[in-house]
Amino acid sequence: MFEKELNELRRKNLLRHLISRASNQGPTITVNNKKFINFSSNDYLGLASQPEIIESAIMAIEKFSFGSGSSRLLAGGCTLHERLEKDVSRFKDTESALVFNSGYSANTGIIPAITFKDDVIFSDEMNHASIIDGCRLSRAKTVLYRHKDVKHLSELMRKEKGKRKIVITDSVFSMDGDIAPLKEIYGICLSHNREPGKRDPAILYIDDAHGTGVLGNGKGALSHFDIRPEPWIIQMGTFSKAMGSFGAFAASGENIIKWISNTARSFIFSTALPPCVIAASIKAIQLIKKENKLIEKLWVNTKRLSEGIKNIGYDTMKSETPIVPIRAGTIRDAMKLSDALFRKGIFAPAIRPPSVREPRIRITVTSAHTAEHIDFLIKTLEDKKRLTG
Ligand code: PMP
Repeated sequence: MFEKELNELRRKNLLRHLISRASNQGPTITVNNKKFINFSSNDYLGLASQPEIIESAIMAIEKFSFGSGSSRLLAGGCTLHERLEKDVSRFKDTESALVFNSGYSANTGIIPAITFKDDVIFSDEMNHASIIDGCRLSRAKTVLYRHKDVKHLSELMRKEKGKRKIVITDSVFSMDGDIAPLKEIYGICLSHNREPGKRDPAILYIDDAHGTGVLGNGKGALSHFDIRPEPWIIQMGTFSKAMGSFGAFAASGENIIKWISNTARSFIFSTALPPCVIAASIKAIQLIKKENKLIEKLWVNTKRLSEGIKNIGYDTMKSETPIVPIRAGTIRDAMKLSDALFRKGIFAPAIRPPSVREPRIRITVTSAHTAEHIDFLIKTLEDKKRLTG
């Protein structure tokens, strides 16, 4: 069964293999008994291995047990879940917030919950797969606008007169590392919402998975652009990246959040996250608020890495963040470059279709990397370039 299909994937160089780490998540990892410098993690602030976070998780297990037993609506959640939601809404300056089990389940649950049959969703063509799947599950019409093209978005919105509108964008695009023009997108939604006689405001839905903890002194993309968190904006974010934990959240106006908690199927029909995971996320928010040095170091490392790679002649596409892709030409070229790095003890995976249209190496840098780690990667890439041209 599936032999033909698997062979086809193999033939196209698209067969993926699972990789099992035999060490903690950090700037160096052990895989197959070999140590690597790890440039593949979204643990941007190195919080996954932070002792205070681990200690909070252990204390929560001792008090609340490990598994949560049932969904939030059936008392699977504990006081920590409620506390985290309060902390998130304070952190994101919103009236309310709701915790989801993952970023994937947030996007696939919230988008169908907030959209109805006659609505129109406007989605950036490069949005994350979980947004694409959320749109597929929605009964609304989905219209794609060209990547970051606000003029195109505005034209498409004008064409859908009288319809309720939902604009969806990643804040930081996960494979390209570029940032959405949120100020302009916000402006389009704002002027749309100010039109006289408007009954329902357009909703702006921002997936801030890679912005939270990274942009705006850690507060995320809205803070980075100095945009007010209006009640018609939904900020979705994850605890699984810069927060070093697991799970996700939606932060917005009280009514929207109440509606989502009553209608998002991925929230209603799924067991609540274990208390230890929630405790880790609570601690992560505290650390991000307090430890500005980690965020500063992340940006120092980002500059060192991306300038270093550009200086030796690689194309880092449109990266503006700690996500730094290297354009690789064909799938085969991407695999060859990733394999060459692997042989030198650098873990930087090739990203292939369908995850991206253009094959690449996706490098992510964190505040836990040292200058030596980064310089070793740049030197290895330089040697490779000298050999292959
Ligand atoms: N949105 C974006 C932009 C992401 O990059 C990801 C994860 N790669 C998700 C959502 C899904 O988050 P999670 O891993 O918590 O399911």
